[in-house]
Amino acid sequence: MKIRYFDHAATTPIKTEVLEEMMPYLRQEYGNPSSLYSIGRGAKKAIEEARKKVANLIHCNPNEIYFTGCGSESDNMIIKGIAYANQRKGKHIITSKIEHPAVLHTCQMLQKIGFDVTYVGVNQEGIINLEELRNSIRNDTILITVMFANNEIGTIQPIEMIAKIARMYHIIFHTDAVQACGNIPIDVKKMGIDALSLSGHKIYAPKGVGALYVRQGIEFEKFMDGGHQEKNKRAGTENVASIVGLGKAAELAQINLENYEKYLMQLRNYFISQVQEKIQGVKLNGSINNRLPGNANFSFQGVEGETLLLNLDAKGICASSGSACTSGSSNPSHVLSAIGLSPELAHNSLRVTFGEDNTKEDVDYLVENLCEIVQKFRS
Ligand SMILES: *Cc1c(COP(=O)(O)O)cnc(C)c1O
Repeated sequence: MKIRYFDHAATTPIKTEVLEEMMPYLRQEYGNPSSLYSIGRGAKKAIEEARKKVANLIHCNPNEIYFTGCGSESDNMIIKGIAYANQRKGKHIITSKIEHPAVLHTCQMLQKIGFDVTYVGVNQEGIINLEELRNSIRNDTILITVMFANNEIGTIQPIEMIAKIARMYHIIFHTDAVQACGNIPIDVKKMGIDALSLSGHKIYAPKGVGALYVRQGIEFEKFMDGGHQEKNKRAGTENVASIVGLGKAAELAQINLENYEKYLMQLRNYFISQVQEKIQGVKLNGSINNRLPGNANFSFQGVEGETLLLNLDAKGICASSGSACTSGSSNPSHVLSAIGLSPELAHNSLRVTFGEDNTKEDVDYLVENLCEIVQKFRS
């Protein structure tokens, strides 16, 4: 059966051009980038080329990019790194209630060792309450970390306004941009972002590689002890091939950004209008205007998200109920709860996230099957 994949917020397939760029570093160019002979120097040079490409995508200096093992590691590295480096100045961190577990659980871990964390609420669209954010700032606040765009409902935060508030109070501002990167334009300098996390496998590069941007001059403690790789911040021999892949994916994302964004939005808007036209008792979760181009999240009254998933899977369709990281647990999603959904409606949710491999015909097939499944399980 043909697989139709609508779960690009969970992961994306590797692009052919990305894989081709990686192959030499899995074969003949196997040198250690720290070695001085030619195949080592070649690998080192490839890493630095990739660094430039990632830097170009978010408009920072290449020396402000650190390669990591994944998006989660980038989040851990910067939140813990800033907490440890600034704990004499203060031990208070501000974040939002709808962060990815990589941020949420990192903050919870810091609470266990004596840090104080404020979790700011969001409105029905999932947009952070800026008044509450401002009111929660204290003399000992050292970090504000708020995600650029949400992985479940796709809501895009007013990042520039958050950055402005942080700057006004001389507080470091980090954003988890794993979902936003490569989908919408990001300019860390213009937007006033101090630190940013991104991940390879959400932008058509391999799993197990990520990057962290940290503005020059911001101090943070290193995450892993050992060798001096990544400006002495991340020990361990570099994952050269995957870093090269991430570089290529960033380059392609930058070149195609406008068209990609437009294409996703077309598919997404078509899907939303088709669902609203053909199925009664549906609720679109998240924001209409401040939304990632490829994200749709619906609650279908009276039908469990899991039922939808399993029955769609039987038709070769991949989608998600809530985020992949929380599926398997029966608690309603913390994001859907935070935007005020009842536990029942939260359990009735289905997330569909589009990518470059999807077509309008795929969407028709999806809608057709959704209609049948919803009808069948409601009656
Ligand atoms: C996927 C994701 C992560 C984690 O990235 P990994 O590379 O899978 O560790 C972090 N934050 C957000 C918002 C994500 O969507």
